[in-house]
Amino acid sequence: MSAASQVVSAGTTISVSYRPCPLCGRDNQDQPASPYSLAPWTIRSCRDCGFTYIDTAPKYEHLAVDLDWNARFQVETERKAELRKVSYKFSRLTRMRMHLFGKRKVGRYVREKFNQGRILDLGCGSGETILDLLDSFTPYGVEISTSLAIKADQLFRPHGGHAENAPSIEGLGRFEENFFEAVAMRSYLEHEENPLGVMKEVFRVLKPGGIAVVKVPNFGSINRRVMGKKWCGFRYPDHLNYYTRNSLRQLAQKAGLDIRFDFLGSLPTSDNMWAILSKPA
Ligand SMILES: [Zn+2]
Repeated sequence: MSAASQVVSAGTTISVSYRPCPLCGRDNQDQPASPYSLAPWTIRSCRDCGFTYIDTAPKYEHLAVDLDWNARFQVETERKAELRKVSYKFSRLTRMRMHLFGKRKVGRYVREKFNQGRILDLGCGSGETILDLLDSFTPYGVEISTSLAIKADQLFRPHGGHAENAPSIEGLGRFEENFFEAVAMRSYLEHEENPLGVMKEVFRVLKPGGIAVVKVPNFGSINRRVMGKKWCGFRYPDHLNYYTRNSLRQLAQKAGLDIRFDFLGSLPTSDNMWAILSKPA
C-alpha cells in the first residue's frame, strides 16, 4: 500500500492506493491484467499464492462518505440493469430473496454453537445481518460509512452493545482480546483492502472456541466462468478481493483460524460461499 494516485471512475475523481497481493504481499505489477478487469480497475491474480484482487483501492476516506453502501448500490443497480436487460428484474428479485435468506443464515450458524454472548458484525451496515440474534446476544458493529454506523448504533444500544464508525482494523482495535463469542462477516471481506490484517484482529478479539461466520462471493463458481464479466460477484471497485475456497482457507490459516466450509453453501454451483472460521479452544 505504498504509492497513492488518482483515478476517474464513474465521473468521479478518487484517490487510490496501490495494493500488492493482500494475502502474501507479492507485487504483481509484472503479471498480466485479468480479462475481468474494467478500466480503471485492474484485476490481477498473484503469481505466488493465486489470490485474485483489484490492485488499487479507494482510500478509506472515500468509503466513509462517497461510496457508502446506498450510493454504491445505486451505481451497481444501474450497471446491472445495463448488463442484464430483460433478465434484470428477475435476477434482482432472486438476489433479494437470497439476501434475506443470507441474513438468517448467520444466526443459524452462531446458534449451533452459542445460545448467548457477544457478537460483532464487521461491516455491519445498518445492523440488519444480526437482527435475529438481538434477543439473546449483545450486538456490536464496525462500519466505515458514517450514515449506516449511526443507524446500527441506534439499533444496538438498547440491547447493550454499540457500533463503531471506523475502518475495520481501527474499529476492531477498540475491543479487548477474547471478547466475542462470534463475529459476522457477511458480504464484507470482498470489500476489505487489508483482509489479512482484519483476520488477525478477528483472531485477537474472538474468545478461544469462538467462531466467525463468513460469506463471500465464490470466485470458484461455475457461474463466474459462464457469465464472465457479467457475473454478479464482480463489482468495481466495491469488491476488491475474489476468493476461492483455497484462498479463503489460506487467509484464515495465516491468521491462526481453523476453517470449515458449509457443504451446500460452497458448491461450485453457488455464486457465494459460506465458511465457519474458529479460534482454537
Ligand atoms: Zn499472493
